[in-house]
Amino acid sequence: MPGKVYLVGAGPGDPGLLTIRGMECLAKADLVLYDGLVNPVLLRYSHAACERTSRVGGTGPDAKHLNQEEINRRLVEAGLAGKTVVRLKGGDPYIFGRGSEEAAALEAAGVPYEVVPGITAATGAAVYSGISLTHRDHASAVAFVTGHESPDKPSSALDYDKLARFPGTLVFYMGLHQISAIAGSLVAHGKPASTPVAVVCRATTPRQRVASGTLENIAAKVADAGLHAPSLIIVGECARLREQTHWFERRPLFGQRIGIARAEEQFVDVLDRGTELGAELVSMPVIDILPPADWTEVDAVLDRLAEFDWIVFTSVNGVRAFLDRLWTCGGDGRRLGRVRLAAIGPATAEELRRFHLRADLVPTSYRAEDLAAALAPHVSGRRVLWARASRGRDVLPTSLTAAGATVEQVVVYQNVDVESWEPVVQERIAAGHLDWIALSSPSIARQVAALVPPEQRSKLGREIRIAAISPVTAEAARDVGLPVNVVASEFTWEGLFQAMAGESRLA
Ligand code: SAH
Repeated sequence: MPGKVYLVGAGPGDPGLLTIRGMECLAKADLVLYDGLVNPVLLRYSHAACERTSRVGGTGPDAKHLNQEEINRRLVEAGLAGKTVVRLKGGDPYIFGRGSEEAAALEAAGVPYEVVPGITAATGAAVYSGISLTHRDHASAVAFVTGHESPDKPSSALDYDKLARFPGTLVFYMGLHQISAIAGSLVAHGKPASTPVAVVCRATTPRQRVASGTLENIAAKVADAGLHAPSLIIVGECARLREQTHWFERRPLFGQRIGIARAEEQFVDVLDRGTELGAELVSMPVIDILPPADWTEVDAVLDRLAEFDWIVFTSVNGVRAFLDRLWTCGGDGRRLGRVRLAAIGPATAEELRRFHLRADLVPTSYRAEDLAAALAPHVSGRRVLWARASRGRDVLPTSLTAAGATVEQVVVYQNVDVESWEPVVQERIAAGHLDWIALSSPSIARQVAALVPPEQRSKLGREIRIAAISPVTAEAARDVGLPVNVVASEFTWEGLFQAMAGESRLA
């Protein structure tokens, strides 16, 4: 039985611009072949082996591109071998994307296939730079044009005489390196030199940049701004509209590159929110969340939950690990009986809610000290269980014991340093690829400090600013020599993003 090949448009860069059908295909794929324009963040929707078809083997001298024939062959072979394959292509697979050639090869080989359209760079770039390609006051037609061919080439398939007279907006793909010839040719064929032009580089991503001008001066403006591929050239009166409506670039963290120092699997929890605020998030998985080395202690506690008056959770991971284990051992929510539940903050309470459990107590400020203070009036003579990480401060047990409680602690997950990521993180710091590092716990702060090579230290606090989720984390960071630029006033990831946004606005 042959499998099936899905030719899927990945959209222009913003991961939110993949279609629902595209996401469904990724979820069921055994193999994903993606091209160089695709945002690799999309691969998180897939469990498959994912291979890039451009620059196979990295960016070094040995890297090679698979050519179109090799790609077609791979798709046909995998399809005939019964695999579900996604061929993920930037933008729309059929707009300057050679997707139709891939479909033809599959058709000829008798491999079942489906084509999923995508948002093409032209519409993505226009909308994200505040331009309506067919604004009714300015254009009643739009043309997508390849700018790859030199307009001076006699054999060019494009007729610049007709293009110059086209009654609407012209959008050139692949034309950046020819921009001065394209603009010159349009003017030579009669298009007014004052026609507005916008060039949009890396459209729809936090690194989007736009140069605006006219046919006469756009080449110089692009050179001044240092724009590079992938870029799109939009020619027409509508390009003038941008000044009023460039909503995307006004996002509070637009263009900021933020290193997220937390476990890799927790990166996705903040990815969408950070992206929505306009930032480019970079995973810095300096720690890892692992199950306890041995469940014996946890299981013993789970067997006598009825003995406790309170269970205290101080992290999302703690909730997840504790309740997952309860389920795995054959128990469920009834085991909690009349025990009351405390959560350190809104994210932890939200995780309880996912298990259909309500937190009886959440302090108004999200620190161990505040949680202990909020619990203190309720725990005298009571038994309290703290479902905790292998590392962390001892504020809770100390304060609750002082308040008259009998406190038991059980480690439900381990929080360990990840050494294998050191070179990656160090390279990112050295390459100046970060505007911010976001620290969400004291142990993470210490781990980041240990990772920064001595010769890069001077960058911290200046080129690379440091944001801490709470005063406790900030203090731990300062103790190990990390200068802290901002501290969140609400001790959550949302608070951390808002603190960076406030500081970025001032800068
Ligand atoms: N199939 C793709 C186009 C592939 S041709 C689509 O439908 O969008 C490659 C050209 O697309 C690039 O040279 C550039 O002109 C344009 N392009 C693709 N992604 C872009 C982006 N994020 N920003 C600006 N231009 C982009």
